[in-house]
Amino acid sequence: MQHCFESHMVITRKPHRCWGCGRRFWKGAHLEVVEGVNDGQFWRCYYCSICRETMSHWHWNDLECIDYGDVKWNDERAWEEAEQVVKERRLKGSG
Ligand SMILES: [Zn+2]
Repeated sequence: MQHCFESHMVITRKPHRCWGCGRRFWKGAHLEVVEGVNDGQFWRCYYCSICRETMSHWHWNDLECIDYGDVKWNDERAWEEAEQVVKERRLKGSG
């Protein structure tokens, strides 16, 4: 089956939870929206920068298979390492 989804960055206008780690973000957060269609069902979820960084190290990108909270709880250590990367990047002012 062909998976089709696309993603883009948004500044949220409403509070959202990150699908990958379950953290809550208030409006004005920079999140990645991933949306697609699977078996005729439209779906959309939001990922924070830490989850995106975590997933960038994965060898697969089948985003439809991720359960709620999986990005963090699958491998909490990897997620915490990604958190450091994101923080350092933010301190350097490049994202
Ligand atoms: Zn997250």
